[in-house]
Amino acid sequence: MRLDKFLSQTGFGSRKEAKALLKKKVVAVNGELAKEGKQSIDVERDRVSVQGEVVIYQEYYYYMLNKPQGVISATEDQSQRTVLDLFKREDYRMDLFPVGRLDKDTVGLLLITNDGALAHELLSPKKHVDKTYIAKIEGKVTNNDVQIFARGMQLTNQEHCLPAQLTILNSEHLPETQTLISLVIQEGKFHQVKRMFEAVNKKVVALKRTKMGPLQLDETLKKGQYRSLTNHEVALLK
Ligand code: URA
Repeated sequence: MRLDKFLSQTGFGSRKEAKALLKKKVVAVNGELAKEGKQSIDVERDRVSVQGEVVIYQEYYYYMLNKPQGVISATEDQSQRTVLDLFKREDYRMDLFPVGRLDKDTVGLLLITNDGALAHELLSPKKHVDKTYIAKIEGKVTNNDVQIFARGMQLTNQEHCLPAQLTILNSEHLPETQTLISLVIQEGKFHQVKRMFEAVNKKVVALKRTKMGPLQLDETLKKGQYRSLTNHEVALLK
């Protein structure tokens, strides 16, 4: 791999910034001062250091974010804050992206990675990866709704949904008019959960994703916080 690419991939900014670093004469390969971005290195065997600190090469990064309300699931935006704006400078990389989307007002589990192949697997409609949501619904959700969801329902625009597992949870802390539910869906249609409830004349007033495939939201993460996945969590996803 080219040295400037290596530096860029290990968190030293864009290729241009990596080149500027080389110019400052603070980069060494196997103890020898390196000046050329085009120098080829073997990521397994060569020892690259910046200002005397050895740089560890890691190809893929995986983070679990507890998405707060008010940020959009995008990598950058002219006017709105994105989930990547929540990243600390030292963790930010230009190739990170969110795996799928949560609406601006939805909270909870969002996987952020630079592993395109894994994202593709998780998002592929053919894979039917389960996504679990907890939602507060305006209206009384009934056992009839549970059956409608279980059979595979039609949205108001006639779009068809695969069978989904709707569970009515204990709503004793909610007003009489609201219901707490959990819902497991196998798809990721645009505004899917909201549109499924709209099809049974109810409104989602709060929505949180707690699970995606085998990955469970770490409830110790406060809204807006993130952490790296453990090796075990990464292995579960693959
Ligand atoms: N379904 C929705 O309606 N919104 C989300 O953010 C996720 C699923």
